[in-house]
Amino acid sequence: MRSLLKVAALFALLTAVFFSCKKDAKETPLPQEAISQQVLDKIYELGFGNKNVARHPEGYLVEGDIVITEEDLRSSPDRKLIRVGDEEQYRTTNTVTGLPRNITVRLNSSLPARYTTALNSAISRYNALGLRITFSRVTSGGNIVINPAPSGAGYLASAGFPSSSGNPYGSVLVNRSYLDTWNINTVTSIIAHEIGHCIGYRHTDYANRAYSCGGSAVNEGQAGVGAIHIPGTPTTNAVSGSWMLACIGNGVNRPFISSDITALNYVY
Ligand SMILES: [Zn+2]
Repeated sequence: MRSLLKVAALFALLTAVFFSCKKDAKETPLPQEAISQQVLDKIYELGFGNKNVARHPEGYLVEGDIVITEEDLRSSPDRKLIRVGDEEQYRTTNTVTGLPRNITVRLNSSLPARYTTALNSAISRYNALGLRITFSRVTSGGNIVINPAPSGAGYLASAGFPSSSGNPYGSVLVNRSYLDTWNINTVTSIIAHEIGHCIGYRHTDYANRAYSCGGSAVNEGQAGVGAIHIPGTPTTNAVSGSWMLACIGNGVNRPFISSDITALNYVY
């Protein structure tokens, strides 16, 4: 397994792009306002890496594409660590309650048609699983609204976690300077990934982002409490890529793999 992981890491190094922190000489770096040690400590306490924390219009951006809001900073979510097989880990924070429940998703009308195609495909991926949570695209209102990220944003997309009252995170931002031209299956995978955050899933490889992002392992926050192992799930799919891996490159498609489906069924 170790050598397979090395191959995967090397492959990732060559192809993967952070959902954030993309190193591109053409981009000007984001303005890094000082973030207080108190905030960094709280982010770590919540179980997230507190390296490379950036300001975001909705709060703070951690682990590339996850928004931590002021409400999150004040909360103590009931975290669950779900381990599927040897490599795949899906940690949840708050989850969406009131199941069975349909979540409506709306695209900002300024986004081109390819986003409708991608969102419809992402929704189909979820709805095909027969979960107690389903999604539908709407053209007004919407529990989750997908908007363009501010120009110059240093991430591919962003989203946050459900509220303590059990509602999904309501905002996904997409970086049009990449997603307007990226492979449609990759855009579908990115939207499905951000919806995954909105309903409470963390990065599968949060404990070792080197897995999908390349580079060396980074400390991704405090150890989780009460790991839940789901027995009898395959480990062989680990390399092929969970939909909640932290990094993705253009051309990569990440439909749900069996361990993703196990983790989705476990919660929903
Ligand atoms: Zn993510």
